[in-house]
This record gives sequence, C-alpha cells and structure tokens, in this order.
Amino acid sequence: MDTAIYHALAQQDDPNRQNRQPQQQQQQALPSGHAPQGIYQQRVIPPQQPGYGYPPPGPNPYGAPMPSTTPLQFQNPYAPPTQLYGAPQAPSQQQEGSSGIGGLTAQMGGMGITDGAMGGVGASPGTVSRTAKKKQRHAFHEIDQAPSAPVASNPPFSPAASQFPGQQGQFGSQHGQFGAQPNTFTPGYQQQLTGSQFPVPANPQFVPGIPPTSQAQYNASSSGRDSSSGQVDPNAIPSIPASRDLAQAHYNTNPYATLAQHGPPPTITDYAVIDQGNVSPKFARLTMYTIPTSQEILNQTALPLAWILQPLAKQRSDEAPVPVLDFGEAGPPRCRRCRTYINPFMTFIQGGGKFVCNMCSFPNEVPPEYFSPVDMSGRRLDREQRPELIRGTVEFVVPKEYWSRPLEKGETIEDRALKWVFLIDVSMEACNRGGLTAFVEGIKKALYSDLSEGEEPVKGGIQKLPKGTKIAIVTFDKEIHFYNLNPSLDAAHMMVMPDLEDPFVPLSTGLFIDPYESRSVIESLLDSLPKMFSAIKNPEPALLPTLHAVLGSMEKSGGRIICSLSSLPTWGPGRLFLREDTKLLGTEKEKALFTTEHQSWRKLANKMVDAGVGLDLFLTPHAYIDAATLGYVSSTTGGDVFFYPNFVISRDTPRLVDDMVHVLHRETGYNALMKVRCSNGLQVANYSGNFLQRTVNGDLEFGVIDADKSMSVSFSYDGKLEKKVDAHFQAALLYTTREGERRVRCLNIVAAVSDNGKDVLRLVDQDAVVMLMAKEAATKIVDRPLKEIRGNLTEKAVEILSQYRKNFSAPSPPGQLILPEALKEFALFMLALLKTRGLRGGSVSSDMRTHSMRLLKAMPMADLSTYLYPLIIPIHNLAPTQGFPDQAAEGVLSIPPTLRASYSRIEEGGVYLVDNSQICILWLHAHVSPNLLEDLFGPGITTLQQLDPYMSEIPVVETHLNAQVRNLVQWLSEKRGGRALKLQLARQGMDGAEYEFAGMLVEDRGNDERAYVDWLVHVHKFVQLEVGCF
Ligand SMILES: [Zn+2]
Repeated sequence: MDTAIYHALAQQDDPNRQNRQPQQQQQQALPSGHAPQGIYQQRVIPPQQPGYGYPPPGPNPYGAPMPSTTPLQFQNPYAPPTQLYGAPQAPSQQQEGSSGIGGLTAQMGGMGITDGAMGGVGASPGTVSRTAKKKQRHAFHEIDQAPSAPVASNPPFSPAASQFPGQQGQFGSQHGQFGAQPNTFTPGYQQQLTGSQFPVPANPQFVPGIPPTSQAQYNASSSGRDSSSGQVDPNAIPSIPASRDLAQAHYNTNPYATLAQHGPPPTITDYAVIDQGNVSPKFARLTMYTIPTSQEILNQTALPLAWILQPLAKQRSDEAPVPVLDFGEAGPPRCRRCRTYINPFMTFIQGGGKFVCNMCSFPNEVPPEYFSPVDMSGRRLDREQRPELIRGTVEFVVPKEYWSRPLEKGETIEDRALKWVFLIDVSMEACNRGGLTAFVEGIKKALYSDLSEGEEPVKGGIQKLPKGTKIAIVTFDKEIHFYNLNPSLDAAHMMVMPDLEDPFVPLSTGLFIDPYESRSVIESLLDSLPKMFSAIKNPEPALLPTLHAVLGSMEKSGGRIICSLSSLPTWGPGRLFLREDTKLLGTEKEKALFTTEHQSWRKLANKMVDAGVGLDLFLTPHAYIDAATLGYVSSTTGGDVFFYPNFVISRDTPRLVDDMVHVLHRETGYNALMKVRCSNGLQVANYSGNFLQRTVNGDLEFGVIDADKSMSVSFSYDGKLEKKVDAHFQAALLYTTREGERRVRCLNIVAAVSDNGKDVLRLVDQDAVVMLMAKEAATKIVDRPLKEIRGNLTEKAVEILSQYRKNFSAPSPPGQLILPEALKEFALFMLALLKTRGLRGGSVSSDMRTHSMRLLKAMPMADLSTYLYPLIIPIHNLAPTQGFPDQAAEGVLSIPPTLRASYSRIEEGGVYLVDNSQICILWLHAHVSPNLLEDLFGPGITTLQQLDPYMSEIPVVETHLNAQVRNLVQWLSEKRGGRALKLQLARQGMDGAEYEFAGMLVEDRGNDERAYVDWLVHVHKFVQLEVGCF
C-alpha cells in the first residue's frame, strides 16, 4: 500500500516527525484483520484533522438550519475518496516488531497527535475552532475539565469532585463535603412540560412514540427552557452517559483498590481491581459501604441493605487470579459456632492460639497444623504468605465431606469433569427455519475451532475444554435419538427410543465420549443431521420425555444440557399448549402466563438440581413457545436462555454460534450450593436470582452456575450493630469446577458501621441499589400484579428521594428537587427499569416478558446497567484518534463521549452504534452521507438500500473509518458479559430493528412511560407531597 500518502498527511503538523519516522515506518500496519497482539485494529489513515463531520447529502429536508452541524459544513475529507486511497488493497499481515498497542502510541505520536489532541482538540490551528464548536455541542459530556470548575451549560450537575477522587481516603477525610454540592434543579409544573416537550413526530418514517425528528426541531421545541425560567433544561439533569464516561476516564489509568474509602466504579466501567482483603466489586457489591447501626437509621434513608453477588465473574487478565488453597483432609479452618470460613477479618488472640470469628465473635481453637505465632499487634507472622488472611476472594479445595458423593474405586477427579449434552431439536420447524443448521454450526465451532486455524478470535477465546470433559449428542422430534460416538466407529450409531412414557438411554457405552478422541465421528454426525432430518420432518417435538431420558444418564455425574428448540413442544407427556391469551394481559390473571403451574416441568427442574444438572436453552421460535414454562427449568437449575425470536438464519446464525462458543468456554461449575453469612445483629432477609431455594432462608441450590450469573441477598436487622465495630459479610459458594474439583469460593467484605445516615448515604452504590430493585421486582412478577410492582418501584424511588430531602439535604427552596450525590442517576435508572420488557406496562408478549424478567434476575452486573440504559456511540463524527488505542492509557481504546438515550440527540445524517448488552444496533439516518457509507461498507455502497439487511458484521474495508468502527464494535463486545455481540442493522424508515432502537431511547416518552424530564417532574411532585413542601 502507498504509505507515502499517510505519512504526508501525518507529517504536516508534527514537529517531532523526524524523530519518529523510523519507528513509524516499522509500525505501519493496515487496519485489516485482527492484530495478532491486540484485539483492536491499528490506525493508519488520518484523513484530515479532527472530526469527519460527514454531511448529510442534499438540502436539509427539514428546512430549519441545523446549528449543531453548521460548523462542519462541509469539509468532507472523503470527497472524492478514491483520490485519497487509491484502489482497495488486500489485507496484509502486520509487520514483525510492530507490537500492538505499545507501538501504536509511537505511531500516533508520529501523526501529529499531541496530548491535547486526545481531548479532541486538533493540532492544527485551523481546525481547533471546528472542534471547539463541536465540543460545545457536547458540553454535557465533557470530562476533561477540572471537576471543581463549573460547567457553564450544566451548573447544577457538574461532575462533583468527590465522586472519583484521585487518591484514596478523600471521602473519609472530607466528611463535610457531602451536600456541599447538592444536585438540584427546579422542575416546572408537569403541565408545562407534558405535551410541549415532545412534539408529535413529523417524520412518518420513524417509529411512533418517539419525539422530535431532527435536531432542528428539537432545538426549536426546547429553546429557552432552563432552570432560571422555572422549567427544565434537559442538559442540566443528571446524565448516565456523562457519569459513565467520567468514571471510565478515571479508571483508565487507576485501579480500584478494594479497601478504598470510596465506593466502586459503575458496573459498566472497564477497570482493574486490587484485592486488599475486601472482595472485588466484580464478584460482589454492597448497596452501601457504611452500614447503619439499626433498622431505624436504615429506614431514614429508605435504601435497601443488600449484597449483589456474581461469584464466578470474569476477571481482567491483568488482575491477580483468585487463589486456590488446599488444606488437605482437614479442610479450611471455620468457625465452630457459625461455620464462617477463615478470612482476613478474623482476629487471632492468645498468642495465635485462638481465632475470633468476625461474624459471631466466638473464640475458636486454632488447629495445631494451622498455628502461627502473632506479632505485637496480633497479626500472624505468616500472614503475608496466607492468601486466606489477606485476600477478599479465595477458593478452598475441600475434602470428601463436602462432596455430594465419594469417588468410586478407580474414579479420579478428571472423571468428574463437567459433562455436556447437546440436545438437538430436529423437528420440522428446526429443519425448515434453520435453527438446526445454526445449532450444529455452533457446536462444531465451540468444540473444534481454534485460533491456529486462522479463525477470528471469538470473545472469551476458544481453547480446548478441560481434560476429562465428556460430551453426548441426543436429537429429538417425536422420538428420541441417542448416538454411540465411540472413536473406534467409522460413523455414529443411532439408537431410537420411541417410548416416551418411560424413556431410557439404550446405550451402555459410547454415549458420553471425549470430544477430541471422537472428533471425526462427531463432526460427520453433526454435518449429516440437517440433511438426514429434512427428509423426515416430524412437526411436533417432545421435549419433557427427552429431558427425563437424558437426565437419567446424568443422575450420578451431574452436567450441563444445551438444548435447541424451534417450536412449542406439543408432543408426548408434558406437552405444552398455546397459553398466550392477550385478554389476560393487564389483568390479575396475567401473572399465570409468566410462570408455570405444570407440575411435571416443575418436578423435572427440582430433579435436575438434585442431580447437579442445569439446562441452557437456545430458542429460535417464530411463534409462541411458552418461554415461561421452558425457562422455568433453565432459571431454576441455574442455566441460561438464549432467545432469538423470529429467527432468521443469515442474521442470527453468527450470533447463535458465538453464544454457543461463549457458553462452552466461560467459567462454569455444577452441583452448587450457596450460603451467605453476616455479622450478628443482621440477618438474611431475602434472596433473588435464578436458583432453587427449597425453604425460606434455606441455602441456594444450583444445578449449574457460571461466570454470567448474579443474584442478590438483602438483609434485615435482628438487633443493633455497634457503632465502632465493623459489619462483616461472607458468601460461600460450594461447587464442582468444570475440571471436576470440589471447591468453596469465599467472598468476604467488611464495612464500617455508623449511626449517621449521612455517612451511609455518602457511600451508597447506586448500581447495586438499582440491581437489587430490578431483581426483586422481576422476582415478584410471578405472584404480584404487574401494575402493583410498577407502582411499588415508583413509590420506592419517591421514598428514597423524599427521605433524603427530609433527613439529610441542606435547606433549599421547596421547588428544587435535590438528589443525593451518590444517587444522581437513580431516578433515571428507575425509569429505565420501568421501561424494560420485563416490567413495562402495555402489551408485551408473555414470551418476551418472562425472558426479560429472568434476565433481570440473573444477568451479569455489567450487562444490567447497559440493559437498562444503552451505550450509544456516534460514529459519523469520530475524531481521527477515536476508535484507536489511547495514547494516554495503555491498552485502552479512545472512545468518543457516549450519547444520551434520546432521539433529540440524534443528528441529521448520523450513524450510531447502540448496545444494550442483548442486541447491538447500527442505526443509520435516512440521509446519511454516501461517502460515509462507502467508507464503512466498501466501494460502490452509497445508499442504504444497497446494504444487506441481515448483515451482522461490518465488512473489512481499507479505510480509517471502517477500522475505527470495527474497533468500537470489538470494544462493545469486550464489555459484554453474557451474550455475543452481532450487529443488527436499523436503517431509518426501513428496518424492523428501528423499533428496538426506539425502545432503547429511554429518556424519551415511550414503552408506556414518561420521558425523563417528565418523570423527574412526576417524582418531584410526589417528593414534595411527602416532604410537605406544598
Ligand atoms: Zn462464627
């Protein structure tokens, strides 16, 4: 490729270019394929200085001027693109010695980008003004200002200095700070806003219910509205994107230390954790890091005291892994009275002869083999060598008494490695619609694809399954088919089980086999399945008997069943019926649709948990499939439901395949039990999540558990806590790893205790509060009317804010809504929660609702935040450095400010990536620039109509923009916890996915709820009533 072009472009403003040139040449790399040492594309072509500002083609269809884009009119660096780039070129390998991100920094330096440029200011004087104007446009996103400096356009909600202190201890040392910068604004009366704020859409192309159709209209409709005039300036109310971006900027270069005197970053943040004795917030987060002494103090805040747990969460590669400790036959030391496991907060007395339990204060004898002398301060001399005494998260290998059954003669740990059963729907619908083809594709990729074969890296990576892993393949329609996959066979032997009343496995050997030894048998079977069954096409699948038969083969071993299903299983015992009844929606009886009273399915779920078996479902339906009943088994056993409604083979196969890869390779355990212990004075009140709990306050049981599952535990008081004594919590998860080892993972946390509600409020974890409320609300949906649950959420939001107003805020005019600093975006999150499919009002199919509700109960912590409030990245005005590794922070991608979820923020001609952790939409404005389309999708693509509506990936094109966008997609994908990311195209006025896009704009009126501003006004009205300000 002609690198001279890029050099010429790069050199014009670079005073250091002579110094850097040699390096630069060495590091020249194409933005094609995946860089071997980094996941992101390297940047090559800086077409011009900041922001591309693709113009919309032709005259502005809306007539009104567009102030926000005017400054950019219209120096399009891409016209004509061919002069710049020449002919497209084949991807080339990255040159040796060009070492990924590290090299990038130098390369970017060589391109005239200074530190200042990272903030968006171009190096060339001629371009500064353009950027500066653009900055103004995004003033509410600015994160690089000194936190204490007021932001003109955003005075009441400027990022407070206290939220992300540069050093630890700031919170502790500045008690008076709280309330010094109250989050206030003055809402007008509701009548002033409702209706006027959001004009009826004039653009017929867009989905109804979404307000203004252009920036111009929005500007016109909202002009002059600010706090001084008694109305609400939308820019002046708390912004989730701004707060996320601010936190990310801090944690790009700072780790979170778990004994820091401030709360953890928002769950969505990409950050590294240093375990100082408290559990990493990736595994567990308290709703508050100062615990009230009594229920009365807690009630003053109206906040829940709870712990959100995700015990097997994925860690970052630069974090210390969880230590695994083996105490041999004796097992880990535990309190004799309350059975708490040894942890960093137990104290040693009598020269090290006894340890005092941090939960119940019982003095235990130290077992002789665990004895160590202590120093003057009571610290064991061997403390630093003992991870269980210094780390918040440890894992103990446990002896036989913790096992569900002892090893049999000749059995080894390896024989206990997780067993997988692929249960494949081969009935008519699966054959016809492609669910079968996609599923076998997924199995093959998950088992056999690896990076050495030139495959693209898939999230989580593909590696061999642990030694000893066995798999089985079973297919079903009206009959059940088992396969002998013995490696010595030329081809798999099929055995049919037609008896659905009392099915059994008609094979003594060859059902569970080593997937690598039998690779050729398995691959040829999988390849032949779609053809084989397309000749049969039984219309009605029989699922319950199939699950019973498979469970029979796993009763002793436990394991994980991954089952595909394309239509309602209407055959044989336990057959399901079309239960959906739209007349019931919105009535008292509606809740029956969200769960199952089908006793045989409920019994099956319990039996599976008993056996340490979990069920994952891959549902690819075109009609009602009774997700309520099917998903009941998955959620009770700790499994997952992957739901691809209206499955389209070309669009959804890549996503399904990657989901399957993820399922097989994420951290997984089985046969699990969990128990949470807490300090005397507190007690466990309630658990929420996807698990089996047989008795109230009994242990949680999971057939399987994995990295993506979270649950909550809330606490109540059964006494009082001592002010000077810390409060302690420990969660212990007993499980069998997928390698077959029986272990207990312990999560420990300590928190200060205070009788001052202000102290409590200062260290509230907003995300944890939101997660708790989401989980508890989603749990109630099966036994309370939806309307009541929604009402309770609103009431709770009002209660929290009015209690704050009553008890803790500084005096202020009654017209002001005051939000606690730590809960600035809480009201917006509550609104977003009310707009989820699981909890929104209005008509939602019961399949969709139950699926969403179970997601809310168990989804990964980081995903929930995005699920409620999406990440929106504009890509039509990226600065040249954005979407490439950041110069200032190694390994960090430079991300443009994320956008507020409102149509008012959408620009004419704009293109946006919108991700809510379940689907990722590439939304394109109808008047998008043809040049942009060509740069993004390849030569000759200049209109939206030319795009493949089912495209799931950005094609590789040799342009700067293309590399940027692919990097951003990769970044979004890395951020996700539980679901693979594939793009879905939403071209304005053309694609059904626009409806999804509209649903994600949670600040707008829609989803049967108010717009954000109206919501705040609504909440504020009730707060005023509560406080008695009227
Ligand atoms: Zn104890």
